[in-house]
Amino acid sequence: MLRSNEGEKDRVRDIDTKKATSLRTFEGEHLVALDRTHLMDSKLTGRKALVTGASRGIGKAIAEKLAEEGADVAMNYRSSEDEADLVAIDAESVGANTWTYRADISHLNEVREMKAIVEKYFGKIDILVNNAGINIDMLFKRMDQESWNKVIQVNLNGAFNCTSTFLDHLLESKHGRIINITSIVGQMGNIGQVNYAASKAGLIGMTKSLARELASNNITVNAIAPGFIETDMVKLIPDKVKEKVLAQIPMRRFGLPEEIAEAVVYLASDDASYITGHILNINGGMYL
Ligand code: NAP
Repeated sequence: MLRSNEGEKDRVRDIDTKKATSLRTFEGEHLVALDRTHLMDSKLTGRKALVTGASRGIGKAIAEKLAEEGADVAMNYRSSEDEADLVAIDAESVGANTWTYRADISHLNEVREMKAIVEKYFGKIDILVNNAGINIDMLFKRMDQESWNKVIQVNLNGAFNCTSTFLDHLLESKHGRIINITSIVGQMGNIGQVNYAASKAGLIGMTKSLARELASNNITVNAIAPGFIETDMVKLIPDKVKEKVLAQIPMRRFGLPEEIAEAVVYLASDDASYITGHILNINGGMYL
């Protein structure tokens, strides 16, 4: 694991001691040689992925699943450093090279700094998963401009910042993939989530247009639209509202982060090489 926000000295020390098949334990400096031969035939062996918002929830599951399928994974987070480190340790335990980096994706300058470090120490990415997202829910009549702007700035402009910044990596890759995590709310709307719905609907438009623009460069651009998934984001919903939501889901349960991660692996793999501009619903039948 390479924690690149630390001082240059720490970073260099980490890089010097890091081997392609090594696991650096969380607390200590102990290096354990790992056998990667079991990953040779995996779907994503040899690919490098960047997952934004990989410290928790859906992003965590995506990072871990990509690693299980043989990818090396760079993991971005905003503030949950320890959580991101634990995800990296999990991913390294299956043989992946990992890297964690704190950057607020809503700030283009921070994304650019992240890219410079990624390029220098991790390499060029083949797969970009725009997963990081926030919600600030309230009825529209109470919605202030700050709550509107903040959600758009992270969910939509953040995806722009990462995609435009890493586009040259993807253009160089033979297997370029952009996977945007949108939401069922961007498709059907939701009371109290006008800002969030607008940001996620914007991501759908971005996905479809970019898919057309980048198809001739052999980069596929797809989105996954999760329904209600069991993460911190859904834990915050009051129980009464949760009951109402459950009643609207034909499968009568919330989804699991791993169920989103499996679809990301599929879209990132060669199995999905002719799929682009698609919005994949994973919602237990809530929106068809
Ligand atoms: P979550 O548990 O709240 O995790 C959000 C992740 O995004 C965290 O890793 C967080 O980092 C990161 N993040 C937030 N703002 C960021 C920023 N400005 N810069 C960088 N990273 C940032 O959310 P989740 O439920 O896993 O949701 C993941 C994605 O799926 C989001 O785009 C969300 O809109 C979408 N989604 C979720 C659901 C659902 O039911 N859960 C449904 C549909 C769509 P820190 O930990 O450092 O804060």
